[in-house]
Amino acid sequence: MRLTELVHQHLHGLLKPGDLAIDATVGNGHDTVFLAQRIGATGHVHGFDIQHDALLHARQHLDKEAPGANVELHLAGHETMDRHLPGAMAASTAAIVFNLGYLPGADKSVATRASTTLAALQLAWGTYLRPGGVLSVLCYPGHPGGQKEADAVEQWLADLGAKITTTRSAGPVLHLVTVE
Ligand code: SAH
Repeated sequence: MRLTELVHQHLHGLLKPGDLAIDATVGNGHDTVFLAQRIGATGHVHGFDIQHDALLHARQHLDKEAPGANVELHLAGHETMDRHLPGAMAASTAAIVFNLGYLPGADKSVATRASTTLAALQLAWGTYLRPGGVLSVLCYPGHPGGQKEADAVEQWLADLGAKITTTRSAGPVLHLVTVE
């Protein structure tokens, strides 16, 4: 099973209609659509990406595959999520999903970076997730800067002292963490 599918399988039972969720790296919108479908019109999904085209394509997918869902897409770095999210999301968010690296088919230089990724992870974990909420981080060590970012993420997670489930495939590494 692809690691992106594993993320959805893990979150499937946890997410309920009406929940709040964040897609920290919208990219092709695959995770955004999944979150929107689980949460429905009574919940709220916030997505972040720094590429306008990514958000445009994601919106098209959402219109087709999750019509009526309540999804706000922000053209902004995830490290600034606290400037865009409503205060009501604090300690109330059921799932926050990071799919790191660059978007295949787009500009490879627009990849996530260790420093901004760690800042965003800190906000996700420290401010937004609720008890029982899940943080999902999928790292891609194969591109320039990717290994450094993946190592930084692993170190940050190790320092949390939380129980982490890590799954490694040929290259990508998935970490799933639940807030106690
Ligand atoms: N590597 C994955 C796809 C990752 S897409 C795969 O192979 O399937 C990662 C997305 O993160 C891209 O669309 C990119 O524009 C976005 N991104 C880069 N830096 C970001 C940041 N600081 N905040 C939010 N999104 C960012």
